[in-house]
Amino acid sequence: MTRKALIVIDYTADFVDGKLPVGEPAIAIEDRICELTNTFVDEGEFVVMAVDLHEDGDPFHPETGLFPPHNLRGTEGRELYGKLGQVYEAERERIMWMDKTRYSAFAGTDLALRLRAQGITELQLIGVCTDICVLHTAVDAYNQGFSLVIHADAVASFDPAGHDWALRHFERTLGAKVVRKG
Ligand code: ZN
Repeated sequence: MTRKALIVIDYTADFVDGKLPVGEPAIAIEDRICELTNTFVDEGEFVVMAVDLHEDGDPFHPETGLFPPHNLRGTEGRELYGKLGQVYEAERERIMWMDKTRYSAFAGTDLALRLRAQGITELQLIGVCTDICVLHTAVDAYNQGFSLVIHADAVASFDPAGHDWALRHFERTLGAKVVRKG
C-alpha cells in the first residue's frame, strides 16, 4: 500500500490576507484546505504544516530584496489562516509543524528523512503560492523520487498566469497527478 503524506504549504495570515497576500484566490480555498487536512488526519496519514519563517531585517536572506517582510518569527502573520488554525489546534498531536526558511519545504529541513522513515512514497501538496513555494517543494520532491498529487482546488497564487503555468508543469514535467474538482 502506498503510504502518503499531505504537505500544507504556507497557508498563513501573511500569505492569505496579510503582508504578502495572495488575496481572494487564497481565501477561496480555505474550506477545501481544511477538508483535505481533516481527511488525512482522520485516515491516520502523515500531515505536515510547512510554514515559512523569517527573521526581521535579515540582511543575508535572498528574499529580503525580493519581497516585503513576511512570516516573521513570533508575529501573527505566521499563524495559520482562518479555520485551518482551528483544525491545527484541535489536531496538533497528529499534525507536524515544520518551519522552513526557503521556498521549498525540503530546503534546510529534515522533511525527506521524516518521510522516508515512515515509508512514505507519495506526497500530496496544497497551499500557496502555486508557482513559488508549492512549485519549489514539488520540484524537490520529484528530484528525491516521491510521486506527487497536486490538488488544483486547494492551491492558489496572486499571479493567475503563474498558477496556470505551474499546474501544467506539475502534470507535464514532474509527472504529477493534478486533481481538479468542481
Ligand atoms: Zn518567504
